Amino acid sequence: MTTTEESIHICYDRTLPLALEETARRIAVQENPANEVDPNLNPDDPNLAPAERIALIAQKRWRAGKRLRIRFLDGSPTMQAKVAHYAMEWTRYANITFDFGNSEFSEIRISFYADRGSWSALGTDALVQQYFPLYQPTMNFGWLRDDTSDVEYSRVSIHEFGHALGAIHEHQNPQGGIQWNEDAVYRYFSGPPNNWSRETIYSNVIAKYSADILIGTEFDPASIMLYQFPAGLTRSGLGTRLNTTLSQRDIDFIKVAYPR
Ligand SMILES: [Zn+2]
Repeated sequence: MTTTEESIHICYDRTLPLALEETARRIAVQENPANEVDPNLNPDDPNLAPAERIALIAQKRWRAGKRLRIRFLDGSPTMQAKVAHYAMEWTRYANITFDFGNSEFSEIRISFYADRGSWSALGTDALVQQYFPLYQPTMNFGWLRDDTSDVEYSRVSIHEFGHALGAIHEHQNPQGGIQWNEDAVYRYFSGPPNNWSRETIYSNVIAKYSADILIGTEFDPASIMLYQFPAGLTRSGLGTRLNTTLSQRDIDFIKVAYPR
């Protein structure tokens, strides 16, 4: 895989409309009472236990031990088999079962054609039927085809299933976050293949991955939840790595989020 800028596709967030946030919170706590967060927890507190920290950043977890039903709405047998194969990587560490089948009540519904992007509902948001009706996808792979490389299948499948388990994009702390060359970022993502508006670029890239966004986790440059960015987009002149498998910290995270 080359690191040319032309090859970069990044995932975008399917954030629920504000009006559905209350519903989503109720559904999340109903699914997994551990999603109820103590309002006194401070994400910046360095003494937080790992489980407390994960409670703060993963409030849309399924309950541990959950059997998630997963249905492909379209895609060739090859595309479906490859996504399923790489997605299973999470189940080696998380106490969760992926049951690929045809149930019309599948919690996770996958399309390859809904649009050109790749995205997933965040954890239990997939249960919010006002936003994700049962006949529509909760996850989309807009650029995977039969002849796409296995490395790309691995990267994108594991990444999107991370979202489906409630993992957010790898956020930055002030020590580790990315300092953008903002002009270059706007120029780059406003062109093909993304063709994003300034507003979308701001929320999907600059706001999300910037050095001044603090979620309380240490920056993990090896995380599968971090997408690769070309060097030309940062002020340091250093890009991010092309991560195609789970990092040790991803594994530690998911073990605590879905304990056995
Ligand atoms: Zn993503």
